[in-house]
Amino acid sequence: MAIPVGISACVLGQKVRFDGGHKQNRFVVDELSKHFEFKPVCPEVGIGMTIPRPAIRLLQLPNGDERLVDSKVHETDYTDKMKQFADKQLTNFDPLCGYVVCAKSPTCGMERVKLHIANGNTVPGGSVGIYTRELMARMPWLPVEEDGRLQDPVLRENFVFRVFSLNDFYQSLREMRSYDGFVKFHSRYKLVLMAHSPSAYKEMGRLVASIKEWDLDLFYIEYRQQFMDAIKNRASRSNKTNVLMHLQGYFKRSLTKTQKQELAELIMSYRNGNQPILAPLALINHYLKEYPDPYLQLQTFLNPYPEELKLRYGL
Ligand code: SF4
Repeated sequence: MAIPVGISACVLGQKVRFDGGHKQNRFVVDELSKHFEFKPVCPEVGIGMTIPRPAIRLLQLPNGDERLVDSKVHETDYTDKMKQFADKQLTNFDPLCGYVVCAKSPTCGMERVKLHIANGNTVPGGSVGIYTRELMARMPWLPVEEDGRLQDPVLRENFVFRVFSLNDFYQSLREMRSYDGFVKFHSRYKLVLMAHSPSAYKEMGRLVASIKEWDLDLFYIEYRQQFMDAIKNRASRSNKTNVLMHLQGYFKRSLTKTQKQELAELIMSYRNGNQPILAPLALINHYLKEYPDPYLQLQTFLNPYPEELKLRYGL
């Protein structure tokens, strides 16, 4: 089943921008569309603005408030309408597993959007588009990424991985919430958590150990937030090396001395930046077929998303 992901309509190629153009992203259209069911939204069209339309901007008032206004006529203010639209739109979007937003837009941008002041200058650091701010406030667990940042292999991998993981969480636990269900889900992600955040790995281990003290619905909310926060951290090469060495330990009785040495060398080669992670992982997956281990076979770290996305090639 395709994974539901929201998207700024112009990033999908719809001609909805203020100048009648689009900002189609090839990776989104050519690769992610095979796995994600994109739900395009243009919030500016959603509040009744025309195509084409006058440009709008974020304006900071002297009291610090940020407003979405016409670039030339600042009295024409779209902020409240946009917030109302976001409120209505996002209510229907609860099962989303991610969102791709358009960079720099005063409506959809996720970071460093130009924030103007009345004299025409801008505020250093910028701000967040009005719609995307509402989105992130309403669903703080949701993976949100900008189209431009998806060109970066590390950010791209992390975003796509988080979308697949949230979908897995929903598939595993949305309907059938049980203590056992959470323990099983958590067990599959142990190596992932170790790679993304050793401190969250420990913290979440304690959380899951205390599960019987929780109401399951409250646990669901707490676990989802902690889990999604943890995997938002970039999995560093040194953390991933530790995980690979941990995996290596599972084969210490089954492999010959030469095989052990070959695997150890491959892991070191990855650690030193001479091999992508796929090299040691391919060998580990090969040994896993030869010497099956039920715990390892279920580990998401080994197969986090479809290989055809080629997300780990350069990592
Ligand atoms: S950035 Fe957002 S508001 Fe602007 S055209 Fe794209 S979808 Fe519409």
